[in-house]
Amino acid sequence: MTVPASPRSDASHLWLGLAMFVLAALGSWYFVGFVASTGDRLERERVQSLARTAAATLESGRIGMLKGSTADIGTHDFDAIRDELRRVRDVNPDFRFVYLMRPAADGQRKMVFLADAEAAESSDYSAPGDIYDGPSLELWRVFSTGIPEIQPPYRDKWGYWVTSIAPVRNANGTMVAILGMDIRADTWLATQARYQAFAWAICGLILALIVLFTLGLHLQKRAGERLAVVNDQLQEKLAELERAQEGLRLADVVVRHTGEGILVLDPELRVVSANPGFVRITGHPADEAIGKVAPLFDDDADALQQVRTRLQAGTHWDGTLLARRANGDRFPLEASVDRVHDGDGRVQHYVMVFRDVTVQKQLEDRLRELSATDGLTLLANRRSFDEALEREWHLATRHGEPVSLIMIDIDHFKPYNDLYGHGAGDRCLQQVATAIAAGVRREGALVARYGGEEFAVILPRTDTAAAQEVAESLRRRVESLGIAHAGNPDGSRVTVSMGISTRTPPQTADFEDLMQSADQALYRAKEGGRNGVVSSG
Ligand code: GH3
Ligand code: MG
Ligand code: MG
Repeated sequence: MTVPASPRSDASHLWLGLAMFVLAALGSWYFVGFVASTGDRLERERVQSLARTAAATLESGRIGMLKGSTADIGTHDFDAIRDELRRVRDVNPDFRFVYLMRPAADGQRKMVFLADAEAAESSDYSAPGDIYDGPSLELWRVFSTGIPEIQPPYRDKWGYWVTSIAPVRNANGTMVAILGMDIRADTWLATQARYQAFAWAICGLILALIVLFTLGLHLQKRAGERLAVVNDQLQEKLAELERAQEGLRLADVVVRHTGEGILVLDPELRVVSANPGFVRITGHPADEAIGKVAPLFDDDADALQQVRTRLQAGTHWDGTLLARRANGDRFPLEASVDRVHDGDGRVQHYVMVFRDVTVQKQLEDRLRELSATDGLTLLANRRSFDEALEREWHLATRHGEPVSLIMIDIDHFKPYNDLYGHGAGDRCLQQVATAIAAGVRREGALVARYGGEEFAVILPRTDTAAAQEVAESLRRRVESLGIAHAGNPDGSRVTVSMGISTRTPPQTADFEDLMQSADQALYRAKEGGRNGVVSSG
């Protein structure tokens, strides 16, 4: 089976996933920045509102009375303001350095302290009228615009701080001072970090979801592709199975409808399955045959053993067996048996295919008979005489028994033909042949037409005396046929002359001598006046 080439993987979903991831990463970057800045803004507003609220609680009327110089020290207004500032500072442990400022009166862009919550002894204390020597840009801007601001955060050994600056107005809304206060910024940073962490968590979640989604899509695609490959393989297998099934169906048609018998045998040659051909040929019902050692060969155990032996050595046997039909008739069959192996080379089955060759055998037998028979007299012909003589000679050689041969020749047969015609001659030959055949009753004897008007009788296990007896009786039989023969000077009927020879091998090496001496004896019988029997002695 050919495995279909796996289709080129489609990676579009991976590119889509990557694009989504990049977009989401960019979005995350923006989102985290946005959330962080939002947190920052809220924290700023919170810090600003603290300073604004504090600024709103101050008595702006009193602040307006302050001159912004050391002359304020000790005045009631100054003390009251300073106490308020201290109250503000102490209300929250996250507050420190609460002070009021105003632009210097001399018109310079400088800010001077109005009041400070710090104790006069503190190194951080700034007296009224002290010029602020730090960066005063934001301070100036707050005073001139009235919009609160925050100076950039800074760190010292007490922590992380921002300076929140809020405007202080009097009842008319006129700016009278700015309130500065340092506020601990650690919570600001922590809040910012929380916001960022929150934003990153959301982004991480989204990015992870995109990765998971892409991965899921990828796995789904891969599974889909694999499924498609498996599906293709299944289709292929299915087609293969269908082809195999069609093949099996055709094979079944053949097995069912063939005229030949087909047996599937197990390794012990017991029938596993038999086709209708088997039933037609043998008459044995298939179900009765199953499980039995080929029932039709019961009578031919030798042949079966031969089949077994041959199959143990090789994979194939063919030949002819004699079998028995269900009705008891014996018949010849031509069979071939083949071995079927399993995957490990063990014998799984034998398959026997056979056909009834009764008709062929009969024809062959008839042909063989015809080829061995003389057409005119229906006796054995010269060829079968030669074969029989050779066969009997070998048998006699093996058993040391005598073989006798009688050569018979019709006397004056030429004149018979001349006198009565060839047709009459043929009929005469037939009568003489029948008489001779009827006169030889010894077991194994063979009467043959040797040629022309000559006959030969092979007498196995027969000595000279017995052969002489047979010959004499035959001579008399022919004579007593009384076939008129006016051309026979020794009596007016058909007669025969005979020469006998008897040999017991290995007295002589071959049967040539037997034939020659029989011939010579016949010659002598002719010489001796015909219608007689001469033995070669
Ligand atoms: P002898 O007594 O010496 O044997 O004399 P014969 O005439 O029988 O001997 P010969 O061999 O001269 O003649 C044999 C004759 O047999 C010759 C032939 O015409 C005849 N003959 C041989 N075969 C046949 C046959 O098939 N049919 C007929 N009608 N005659 C045959
Ligand atoms: Mg002759
Ligand atoms: Mg003759």
